[in-house]
Amino acid sequence: MLLSLNPSCPSFKAPIFRKTEQSVVQQLSTCTELPLSASAMTDVQSEAEPLVEKVMPGWMEEIEETLVLSQQESEESALADACRISSDEESIDEESAAMTVPCSPQTSDEWWVFRLKSATQDLGGDFAQLKTLQPVLLGSSCSGACSEAAAFTALGIPFQLCGVADVNKDFRQIIEANYKPSHSWSLMQDQISCQACLKHADSMACEMASCLDVWVSGTPCPPFSEQRPRRFNVGSVEAHPLYSVTFESAIDAVKQGHKAYIFEQVKGFGKPYDMSTSETPLERFLGKIDHLGLTGGIQNRAKYWHITTRPSMNTWMNIKRERT
Ligand SMILES: [Zn+2]
Repeated sequence: MLLSLNPSCPSFKAPIFRKTEQSVVQQLSTCTELPLSASAMTDVQSEAEPLVEKVMPGWMEEIEETLVLSQQESEESALADACRISSDEESIDEESAAMTVPCSPQTSDEWWVFRLKSATQDLGGDFAQLKTLQPVLLGSSCSGACSEAAAFTALGIPFQLCGVADVNKDFRQIIEANYKPSHSWSLMQDQISCQACLKHADSMACEMASCLDVWVSGTPCPPFSEQRPRRFNVGSVEAHPLYSVTFESAIDAVKQGHKAYIFEQVKGFGKPYDMSTSETPLERFLGKIDHLGLTGGIQNRAKYWHITTRPSMNTWMNIKRERT
């Protein structure tokens, strides 16, 4: 994970949270209970009861139990369908989209909320003050379930979700159901270039904010992941079709000069491009931002401090393969 801070912004307050991994994000889709629609059962019961009691005395209790079990099964099936998230962008049609269930409130101390609060409890006054200031202006790209918004909510930090971008329609629906972003795009590049978003298709343009407090992005990891076959072959990383999302789109986002950026990537981002060099994608990425800062290539001639952290996923869950 990489945090880039623009020190020239006088009102800057460092965001003190991290974008959690997708596996954690998926925990956020825990669904609330669907309202039980007992009216149908009551109608059946009221009409059937006199006849059943007359013909088969004592059976009413059995019928009631069967009806209750049937109702529960039906509700659970509907709930399971509503919770199901497919990686296929076009997998949800309009009918099933209407059944999207919002995430559970992030006010309870679910396991990840408890750990999040534990990890931040010693951060002191500046962190506590975040809860009393104006809402943090938050932007998000490659948003997934927008775990950054969930983290802000869980920590009680007010925020305004100025815009999100994710190619997966299912994920955008989850975000919309829970956080109501001001703007929502499919492509990060459209978000950066202020194209009309999916919520305002008739607009000439959509802009998140002239100066976000923090822009969080988890650009695609496949180009850099050590789990990908031939990852260390010469030219393999740069030739990957998703490489440009990090090295063009994310760089373009930085050129806009917002207060701070958080980039989440896999461990392989810090490993050499290939066997012939020691240069890593992380080094090249930071080098590009530094070069832009030194040459005035960032809005308002901003420059950034960089903080790189390698938190272990084992902090959050037991996982066999090392994740950072
Ligand atoms: Zn918009």
